[in-house]
Amino acid sequence: MFRIRKSIHLHPIHKAKRKSKAAQEVLDKLNAFLDATEPEPVYFLTRLWNDQQQAITYKELREAILNGYIDVKTIQAWQNDYANFVNEHLKPLWIEAMQAANADLMAAHPDYFFDPMSQGVLKWINEHGAQWVTVIAEEQKEAISAMLQHAYSGAFTVDELARTIRATIGLNKVQAKANLNYYQHVKKTLLENNPGMKESTAQKKAQEAAAKYAAKQHRQRAFTIATTEMAFAYNKGADEGIKQAQEQNLIGKVVKVWSTAADELVCSICGALDGVELEMGADFDFKGNQLYSGQKQTPPAHPRCRCALLYVEKEPPKYKTVPEQEVIQDWSPEDQIPTPEPPDPAKPVIPPSEKMPPGMKYKGKANLGGTGEMHSYIDETGQEWLFKPAQSKSGKPEAFRACGTGRNRRAGREVWSFPEANKHHRRQDRPEALAIHQRPAATRNSRTAAERACNRLAAGEL
Ligand SMILES: [Zn+2]
Ligand SMILES: [Zn+2]
Repeated sequence: MFRIRKSIHLHPIHKAKRKSKAAQEVLDKLNAFLDATEPEPVYFLTRLWNDQQQAITYKELREAILNGYIDVKTIQAWQNDYANFVNEHLKPLWIEAMQAANADLMAAHPDYFFDPMSQGVLKWINEHGAQWVTVIAEEQKEAISAMLQHAYSGAFTVDELARTIRATIGLNKVQAKANLNYYQHVKKTLLENNPGMKESTAQKKAQEAAAKYAAKQHRQRAFTIATTEMAFAYNKGADEGIKQAQEQNLIGKVVKVWSTAADELVCSICGALDGVELEMGADFDFKGNQLYSGQKQTPPAHPRCRCALLYVEKEPPKYKTVPEQEVIQDWSPEDQIPTPEPPDPAKPVIPPSEKMPPGMKYKGKANLGGTGEMHSYIDETGQEWLFKPAQSKSGKPEAFRACGTGRNRRAGREVWSFPEANKHHRRQDRPEALAIHQRPAATRNSRTAAERACNRLAAGEL
């Protein structure tokens, strides 16, 4: 026992601190998503590069070597290839990644939905898509340009260089250079170890070896791009999702906590970020060019970074007043309302209220047509009031209510004071009548009819 404990202390790397279960879960989900989705973009990207290699002829390559630059038409064709790749493959995958990143939030809040067509999401997809095409086409151009310069070194014949370059189309500058070095190394070794070998044979064998190496480099590059792009979208989607849930008033104030993948704790960039907590919208502190606005608000911190963010709610959402017309809700099903007591045939009593308009006089039942029982009162100013008896959901008679307005319909149980109700109608330049109910009969139909009566009163039809 003691020995085991001691052995743990032998590796007291500060980065080995234990991750919270929640932090580990967000990492696991991101990584599971990456593992599942990577193969598709890798396949299509390697196929795209293969097509680009086939599309260029040795004649064109030899011309490029002699000119010292690749022609504009070829560069444009590459840009088109990448633009198509973004539209056909990356954009759908980015959206898929964003949706996957929101699965937990959707599970936690059944009312929440992630909108992949929101302004924030679309802006990112379009900006980042355009930027991705520009960057990758530029990288490819740079790689080829660097390769073309070797024509002047005298180490290669034009034909030799053309063949080597063709296999490296799609690689970046560093990779292309490594491939050319590898070609040279293989050729040199072959000639040294086989004194009788013809140079053309050594060239052919070296080209085959370099082509195999290039294929491996292409796969690596495709994996790097796929992982990084999916990680960009996943993390961006999670962040946008939090914002959307806040807009939907489902979650309150949130902080984000960087969670570094276990295999990345040794990475100096991500290891330093692990556990760093920031407000939403703030940038994490890591080096590197900003590829698009807001990039440093979320992982990845570098190509192939598999870090994620844990969002922690610090404050519950604050109640927001929602505009009246948007909150009309269904009535409770009628079967939830207990059978009401028959109404007292005697004249209804206005509950005492200090806000009651003074001098109310009962004028008898009012018949507005299809509204059920209603009673008319006239206050001392001569204004007519219509009352409809109401009850609580439990069937208990309640104080009078105003009817026929969004606020009242929504609240259901809300009791309006007379002056307020009156003001409401007056403010809208409505006639001096208001229906208020107080009866154990507030079923869906009678309420709706009462509302209609209110509306008709308000419109001056009655
Ligand atoms: Zn890292
Ligand atoms: Zn990382």
